[in-house]
Amino acid sequence: MILESQLYAGPCSCGKDHEIFTKKEVIESGCLKHFDDYAEASGLSGRRAAVYDCNTYHAKGLVRPDADQEIILNPVNLHANETAVGKILEQLHPDTRYLIAVGSGTIHDCTRYCANKLGIPFVSCPTAASVDGFCSTVSAMTWKGYKNTMPGVAPVLVLADTEVIRQAPIALALSGVGDVFGKFISLADWKISHVLTGEYFCPVIEEMTRKAIVAVKDCCGQIKENGDPEAFEHLIYGLLLSGLAMQMCGNSRPASGAEHHISHLIDVEPASLNLHNRALHGEKVGVGTILVSSVYHKLAAVSDIAPYVKEFSPLDPGEIKRIFGNISDSIMTENQKDCLKDVTCSAVIRSWDKIREIVREIPSPHELINLYTGIKAKKTLQDIEVDEKLLPDLLRYSACIRNRLTLMRVRRMLTVEY
Ligand SMILES: [Zn+2]
Ligand SMILES: [Zn+2]
Repeated sequence: MILESQLYAGPCSCGKDHEIFTKKEVIESGCLKHFDDYAEASGLSGRRAAVYDCNTYHAKGLVRPDADQEIILNPVNLHANETAVGKILEQLHPDTRYLIAVGSGTIHDCTRYCANKLGIPFVSCPTAASVDGFCSTVSAMTWKGYKNTMPGVAPVLVLADTEVIRQAPIALALSGVGDVFGKFISLADWKISHVLTGEYFCPVIEEMTRKAIVAVKDCCGQIKENGDPEAFEHLIYGLLLSGLAMQMCGNSRPASGAEHHISHLIDVEPASLNLHNRALHGEKVGVGTILVSSVYHKLAAVSDIAPYVKEFSPLDPGEIKRIFGNISDSIMTENQKDCLKDVTCSAVIRSWDKIREIVREIPSPHELINLYTGIKAKKTLQDIEVDEKLLPDLLRYSACIRNRLTLMRVRRMLTVEY
């Protein structure tokens, strides 16, 4: 399957002229054998460097693209941060014309950050269907301990070799499934914000992201280790389509809402919460999706919200300091222009029926649990090694992680406790 991503670019009914940087996405068994042909057709030439970690370098079935330089990072404690980026930049030959990321999300985030810093293009070669960020324009980094989106560049070309991807550990594919199921929430949050504040919304991007969910929902029952290549083709298609939708939007709005904020809160492990971030990105997002669905459906059961709405009040710096400790300054800076300020009590009351309707499009926690059980995906906080007792804190403080309007953030203006 070849995704001709340029077909999605251009003027749209939302009023925007959508730009897509990625020229082509090839999802095929053995496509890495033809790396040179695809690279040439995409206008890439000159000295190139491939970035791996030791695990992906030795990935089963991997045909390594011929490169002038291979940079192989140590996978122990490898994170998308200043250390990993530094290791790539210090080794990289100064005449490198383009980079090749061969690996998972972390390798991609580090490579795209370096490509952007050097002003050179990069090619994405995912070795597992683990996240939807392969063709993202920004790097999801933990910079000096704080989770942040940093400047990056989208790949000009994606070569997803399903022969390699299907042999990756099954937990990685299930993480990809969780990342896509998170879109049930992120799309709802985006629409709710549009209703409450008139935030920009594009129905075409929504439709693409929904298509990604459907593709993954339909194939996830067949996702097994060394399983049917066709199922993996659909999974990676869903992940790449969601990534393209983000490129069209210019940010991660369609693909990241309250469920991702829960994952990010676990990532930064605030000392006061005694959290342990050992799970994969999509596992945390997947569990976050069930938790958020549960809260949103309980809220939507309230037919008359008027008695429970109170005026916006800013975050309490003392409370943020107590919870976030050494990253509290970053959290306060992130929330300096709190997006919740734009939400009025009357807007919440006026839009409530519409919000309830949007929430009804999210599968119930019960439906999600059944879905996850069927594919043996992680579904509880316990499954991702997070103490169940932290649930109220996770719900309360995850919304501060990113200054993006979600129904979870709107809870600060509601006196109903869910
Ligand atoms: Zn549009
Ligand atoms: Zn994600």
